[in-house]
Amino acid sequence: MGRAGVYLHIPFCVARCSYCDFATTRYRCDFAERYVRAVVREIESFPLDVPREIDSLYFGGGTPSTLDPRQIGRLIAAVRARFRLLADAEVTMEIDPATADRNRLCAYRQLGINRASVGAQTFDDEELARLKRAHKAADTIALVADLRATGFAEINLDLIAGLPRQTLAVWQRNLDCAIELRPEHMSLYLLEVHERTPLARQILRGTVPAPDEDLAAQMYAVMIERLEEAGYEHYEISNFCLPGHRARHNMKYWTGAPVYGFGCAAHSFDGKRRRWANERAAERYVRMIEEEGRAVVETVELDEEAARAETLFLGLRLMNGFDLKTYAARFGRNVLRDRAAEIARLRDAGLIELEGDRLRLTSKGAVLSNEVFVALI
Ligand code: SF4
Repeated sequence: MGRAGVYLHIPFCVARCSYCDFATTRYRCDFAERYVRAVVREIESFPLDVPREIDSLYFGGGTPSTLDPRQIGRLIAAVRARFRLLADAEVTMEIDPATADRNRLCAYRQLGINRASVGAQTFDDEELARLKRAHKAADTIALVADLRATGFAEINLDLIAGLPRQTLAVWQRNLDCAIELRPEHMSLYLLEVHERTPLARQILRGTVPAPDEDLAAQMYAVMIERLEEAGYEHYEISNFCLPGHRARHNMKYWTGAPVYGFGCAAHSFDGKRRRWANERAAERYVRMIEEEGRAVVETVELDEEAARAETLFLGLRLMNGFDLKTYAARFGRNVLRDRAAEIARLRDAGLIELEGDRLRLTSKGAVLSNEVFVALI
């Protein structure tokens, strides 16, 4: 079991993007203050009988950079009081290009935030407008310059491929713009259309075309080629980094390390079998903390079979796959024997490969990862 991490969910956004199904709410100054108080209280009452040493702290959302530095400072102080935040910990904040100026970035940096994750999504202003994003491409470029100027040595950029009406040429331009900024890390996702989002309704009404899966697969292939050419390591299905810059916090999710989540919709895992989740709606979460001191609405104890499936699924997301010996030591099972027929079929189709003691996706398998997971799990 690796070292633990802490996740803090900050649900506030300045606008609602058309594709978004995250737990978010519009930023309101008075409610943001109540929310911060509730999260501090939740952290303070977290049980002490778990490993308390943490080497990653992650502010996700929502848009954490809607909170002012004093509020972020109070949250970090609460984490420090309950956990031992190691001196070399990775401390990440998701930052929306529309929300942070240089002063604010400087203050975040002084609080110990050493990694910024920037929601660029696309460098095409028409696409940004269609998605109802609150920023323009120039804001992303300016934010990256400001982050560098204020001492951020670790930057992640998020991009989405397969946006409505996006052509291969626009996607290639997006990749070129991102590479030019030279972030240490990039997370590149294929668009998913979630029910009950404005985008899903637009597609249903026929005002926006549905995603084209073949085009998305081409975009994925181009992305791997371009980024590898530019020196990025493709280390997880959707994640690339310059050598030595993997996202430590994200690695915890893929390797089954403990992560303790606080705030609305936050999920936690004890690194063994127990997962739990907080109330998703921000207002209800705050009320529950104020009235009962806790907001956990779901706890799941994974049984043996679920734990095995999860290890397989998460391990295969990493491009160097997972170690069959570690799996055998943990579960007393041989996955090559247990899933012999499926593995043979997937290997024949060129979707997975065996190298030494590691089972992993091929590049073709990464494009078709959902099919591989369905077949195996
Ligand atoms: S900024 Fe992020 S979290 Fe907020 S609405 Fe847009 S996609 Fe969702």
